[in-house]
Amino acid sequence: MRRTNTFAVRPLSEQDERLLRELLDASASLWNELNYERRQNFFDGDSVWDTADYRKRYIGVLGSATAQQVIRKNSEAWRSFFAAREDGEDTAPPGYWGNEDDGRELRTYIRNDQYTLETCERSRLEIPVGQDLKDEFGLGYHDRLRLEVCGAPKWDGEPGRLELYYDEVDDTFRAFQPVTVPDSRQDSPVADESAALDVGANNLVACTTTTGQQYCYEGRDLFARFRETTEKIARLQSKLREGRYSSRQIRRLYRKRARRRDHAQDALVRNLLERLYDEGVARVYVGDLSDVLSEHWSARVNEKTHQFWAYRSFIDRLGTTAEEYGITVEVRSEAYTTAECPACGERDETVRTGDVFWCPCGYEGHADLGASRTFLEAQAGTHFEVGSMARPVRLTWDNHEWRPTTPAPLQRTNSNEERTNRSTGDGNLASVGSV
Ligand SMILES: [Zn+2]
Repeated sequence: MRRTNTFAVRPLSEQDERLLRELLDASASLWNELNYERRQNFFDGDSVWDTADYRKRYIGVLGSATAQQVIRKNSEAWRSFFAAREDGEDTAPPGYWGNEDDGRELRTYIRNDQYTLETCERSRLEIPVGQDLKDEFGLGYHDRLRLEVCGAPKWDGEPGRLELYYDEVDDTFRAFQPVTVPDSRQDSPVADESAALDVGANNLVACTTTTGQQYCYEGRDLFARFRETTEKIARLQSKLREGRYSSRQIRRLYRKRARRRDHAQDALVRNLLERLYDEGVARVYVGDLSDVLSEHWSARVNEKTHQFWAYRSFIDRLGTTAEEYGITVEVRSEAYTTAECPACGERDETVRTGDVFWCPCGYEGHADLGASRTFLEAQAGTHFEVGSMARPVRLTWDNHEWRPTTPAPLQRTNSNEERTNRSTGDGNLASVGSV
């Protein structure tokens, strides 16, 4: 199965940094030029495979192997675009790396036999550069660009194509190294547990496993920051001259907002899957979000959280990352579970205030964790005895990683109590507006 190692990468000098930037920028330029021609062909009804020889054009800067990798990556993007269309999906053709106003996204791909990554005491990465860049920066014919690498590899295995990119928000170069690790779990019958996820905005993910573990990833601070940026964007938009719809600053804020969210989501998915893997979980049930959106969530809250969550991309990310762990993801309807009492099954008279779920039968508990438990019971047929659950693990985002925190008391909002009954429309996200 495939896993991914992530590293921060540091050039050793200013000159090396300029070289690295040129290399990544030329890769993006190649991607964009090739992609432009393919898009033109596509819209003209011609073959996208019939293009100029971009390898030849970029061999001087990138070297033959790297030019080829970027071209191959673009071809893969087009192939999956065609495959998705064949499946009847309404998807757009592959896009560009960056745009005209904000410049190119600095990124490249290095073939697995072209780089060396050593992660002992003095961790370093060596990548090839084209002869033109060698000449420009005074590198010898056999030299490669040597970079410092921070972070320990999580996975050991057969290394794959390395992705290098510049993260503008954190002003950091990053490397992603996919590795294929021996698939020891497939012949082991141990991994047969299940988990169910409840996805929301107060708590991004609440999860219950059939082994009795519960995890809760808190989203309040993240969502508040996301909203702050959204408001800033709105303020800037209101100040634009007549006839203008955007500005460089606005686009930058949009990108920053998305990057931050993606970073937290990506880290959440990995943190969660590692925990589930350790629990021997083989399948994860996640609620059908279109269902959730239309039925539980009010339109007002819906629009904001829709952007914030970017559900489709979250599910994609969950699915592809789960594959690396040999875990399958099944999307199921979870209608009612957020309103249903885990103790007695009552649906209509239950009340939710912030995180607290209350039922006339006397049950009181964490609303989202309870929902994930009810969802799991419905999907996996598990029944939990009273007191059979482990103490929930709560995790908060510190702008860098998800950290377990000491259990906080359940949060109640100051606003009036809101019923979880779907007919009121506020449901899951009732307290978002009052954070
Ligand atoms: Zn009850």
